[in-house]
Parts: sequence; structure tokens; C-alpha cells
Amino acid sequence: MNEPLLSVADAQSIIFSRLISFPTRRVGLDQSLGLILAEKVLAERDQPPFDRVTMDGIAIAQGDFDGGTRSFQIQGIQPAGSPALSLGPAGGCIEAMTGAVLPAGCDTVIAVERIQVDDGVATLEPGYEPVQGQFVHPRGSDYRQDDVLLEPGTRIGVPEIAILAATGKSQVSVAASPRIAIISTGDEVVEVDQPILPHQIRQSNSHAILAALTAAGHEHCQCLHLADDQDTLREKLAKALEENQVLILSGGVSKGKFDFVPGILEELGVAKHVHRVAQRPGKPMWFGTRGKDRMVFALPGNPVSTLVCLHRYVLPAISLAMGATPRPPRQVRLAEAITSGSKLTCFLPVTLTSDSDGQLLGVPRQTNTSGDFASLAGTDGFVELAAEGSEFPAGHVADFHPWAG
Ligand code: AMP
Ligand code: MG
Repeated sequence: MNEPLLSVADAQSIIFSRLISFPTRRVGLDQSLGLILAEKVLAERDQPPFDRVTMDGIAIAQGDFDGGTRSFQIQGIQPAGSPALSLGPAGGCIEAMTGAVLPAGCDTVIAVERIQVDDGVATLEPGYEPVQGQFVHPRGSDYRQDDVLLEPGTRIGVPEIAILAATGKSQVSVAASPRIAIISTGDEVVEVDQPILPHQIRQSNSHAILAALTAAGHEHCQCLHLADDQDTLREKLAKALEENQVLILSGGVSKGKFDFVPGILEELGVAKHVHRVAQRPGKPMWFGTRGKDRMVFALPGNPVSTLVCLHRYVLPAISLAMGATPRPPRQVRLAEAITSGSKLTCFLPVTLTSDSDGQLLGVPRQTNTSGDFASLAGTDGFVELAAEGSEFPAGHVADFHPWAG
């Protein structure tokens, strides 16, 4: 008997509510790019930590200018990286460099282009009127000491590296990368470097899954191929479950006589939470967990189904399990009308482009079947068209799931 189909939304919420968690680890700052931050980062000091000069020139007291001074006696020089000097008798100035501490007693900086220096006296360009506070970046105006600069769950990108460095963090606490087994199944599947017979199919899923995991920054992935044989599956899946926290299977989850994967997983103590989702492609998808530290995704073997399920559920689930802050999908407009003609949520590959107003458009790429992965070449991802509709006009706004990023 057919099990009822879960909606895409229900499948997602069941998966996201059953996530396991992974430990954290410490890495050097320069090794943390792309990883998920596992600590709150507070400002070490005010930023800037002092009133900072932002232009090479002279620092003056604005009151002297307001009192009529136009030629200022140079009393000293304030380079970046030196403790603050103090302005001496009225009518003087201190040469100050970009990045320097504003000398005590000064409140305004005049750019070197606006002055002429003769015999230790800086004279302003005729008619030039400085504004009080100009070219001074006041202490604490970006943030204050102990302000929260980064939250746990942030993916560390290039700006985050700069922020971590500026807060004195040479070591960073990040989510540990889980051990992931990529397990393909099927007697017909032949490795890419092996001779192939007419009735056989090349292995593509494992390579595509590995590529997607690598692109997402997962470091500990191993691939394994298993025949459609119950004893082999039982033995090898048991071992894979011992050695890995996440299993991503492809193939063997449908209703064929050799689709043993769901039954064997349950025999091995993996509790089923999702099997069969109202979606096309990818209907037979299966998800389960064992204890609090193992999750198993068993995806249909058709290459388009595998990739769609991987990006729609598996990658987001692993990323959430690692503590990443969820990112809502981007939205794009359909470039053309689409008739989905089914009661299932439709995942439709698209190539992104933009219209003359700069609006992001998804140009649909119809695949012949869920095995027609050659059509995916050059696409950027897929859009999700709701099960409730069947006619989607050009301009229809849909969630977009990218193949990478
Ligand atoms: P299955 O889900 O096992 O019924 O497989 C569905 C279709 O996907 C079959 O045509 C398989 O040959 C194909 N397939 C399964 N696994 C792979 C794989 N690892 N690489 C490429 N095609 C596959
Ligand atoms: Mg199969």
C-alpha cells in the first residue's frame, strides 16, 4: 500500500526538527574562512580606539580659526602609532598623519592640500573655512567595547575575518565538520574510470554529491558504492553508521524489488521520519535518525532527483545541524509561463538572468525526465513551484535554491 505523501513544507519541518548536533572545535583565524562561527564575538575595544585623524594635514583648535588665525605655528608632528601630543600655545598646530591619534587640544584637521608651509608656519588657502571636527573619526563612533560584533551561527566570510582579527582573535571556535558518507547503490552503476557495458550506467551521483559537499566546505566525506544485495547493504551500512555522523545514500529507495535501502536502514535501528514527499522530482525521498548522533538521507537515484533533494533538504539540514543561522531562500521571477500539470511541488531548474530593471529572473530549463541531468548543464539552481498551483505565469515569484552557495 502507498504511504501518504508528505508536503514539502512538512518534510522540511520534520527534518529540521530531528537534527542531530555536532561538536565545536578551535581553529586558527586564517583557517576559519567558510566555517560556521560557534561563539559570540564582542568588541575588544572602542572603534576607533581613539579620536583618529583621517587625512594627512594639520590638526588645529577650531576656536583659533574662529578667532581669526589663518597662519599656524607648527609645534610638532603626530605620526600614526605614536601617543598623543598636546597642542601648545594658542595659534599653533600639529602636523598629523592619517591613522594618528588626534593631538590633545585639537578638534579639527585641515588637509595638506589646503595649506602652504613656510619656515615652520602653515598658512591656509585664502578663503578656506574648515568645519569643526572635520577629518576626525571620533572614538567609539563605529562601535563600543563589548558590543556584539558577530553572533554564533555566522558563516565566516572575508569581512568576518577582518572583524575577528580586529578583536584580537587568533583562535576561533567553529562548528566541527561532520563525517559524511556518500553511499550510492545499484548493480548497474559503474565507476567513471571503469569499462562499461551497454546495460550499465555510469556513476555520477557520488561525484556530484561530493562536489556539492566540498563546495559547502565539508571536509570529511568518503564515498562508497554498494550492490543491491541485502547482506552487503546490511553489513556496509552498519559500518558506515558506526564511522559517520551523516549518511547520504542515493538509489534503492523506491518500490522496486531491489529497493532494499529503507528496510535495511530500519533494521539497523535508523528511525524513519520521512518517506515519500509530494514533490517532483524526488518523491521517494527517505530521512531517518539513529539516537541523537546519526542522520540518514536516502535519496532517489535519478540524478536530477538526487541533486534537487540534496540542495533542498540535505545541505540546509547539515548546515543547520552545525549551528548555522538559517538563510531564507532568495526569490526570483519566472522568465516564462510554466504549466506544472501535477499536484506535486515542482522543482524546476533555472538559469538566472536579469531583466532591464535589474530584477532577477529564472529562465526555466525543462528536463525530459528526472534522469535527464544533461539538461542541468549551465543552470544555476532550481525554483520551487507550489503544489497548489498548476499554471505559473511569467513574472511569478518563486523560491530559488542555488546549486552552490
Ligand atoms: P533507483 O533510485 O535506484 O531506482 O535509481 C533510479 C535511476 O537512477 C536508475 O536509472 C539508476 O540507474 C540511476 N542511478 C542510481 N544511482 C545512480 C548513480 N549513483 N549515478 C547515476 N545514476 C544512478
Ligand atoms: Mg537502484
